[in-house]
Amino acid sequence: MVLFKTVLSALNISSKTTVFQLLFLVWRNPKRFSKIFQLHQEITPSLRLKKKEADAIVNELHGNFCRRCGYCAPCEAGINIPAMFIAEGYYTRYKMVGYAETYYSKQPVKASACIQCGKCLDRCPYHLPIIEK
Ligand code: SF4
Ligand code: SF4
Repeated sequence: MVLFKTVLSALNISSKTTVFQLLFLVWRNPKRFSKIFQLHQEITPSLRLKKKEADAIVNELHGNFCRRCGYCAPCEAGINIPAMFIAEGYYTRYKMVGYAETYYSKQPVKASACIQCGKCLDRCPYHLPIIEK
C-alpha cells in the first residue's frame, strides 16, 4: 500500500483517486503509464529471484537461528556465543567471507576454546546446537 501511494504521488495523483478515475487516467495517458508497466516488467523477475533466495534462507533456518538474546551467557570459557553465530551467518548465509573473517578475528575468545560443558545448551530457550555450530 505504501509503494502504491508512493507511485501515485510520483505521478502527481492523489491517493484518494478512485479505481475508476485511475483507469480513466491510464486510458487518457497511455504513454505515461506504459513506462510504469515497462518498469514493472523489468523489476518483477529480479524481485521474484530475491523472494526465491529469501524463501531458501527461511527454509534453511527453520527457526534454527540465534536471536542474540544472550540467555546462554555466561560461557564457561568466556566465548561470546551470539557473536559466533553472527560470524557464522555472515560467512555461510550472506557469503560475506572477508567481513566474517575480520569480525571473527576480533573476538577475544575463539569457538575452539569451548570445553563442551553444555551449560549454554540448557540456557538457550531455542535449543540451538551451540556446541555443534
Ligand atoms: S559448551 Fe562451550 S560454548 Fe557452551 S558454555 Fe560450555 S564452554 Fe561455553
Ligand atoms: S540463548 Fe540461544 S538464541 Fe539466545 S543468544 Fe544464546 S545461542 Fe543465541
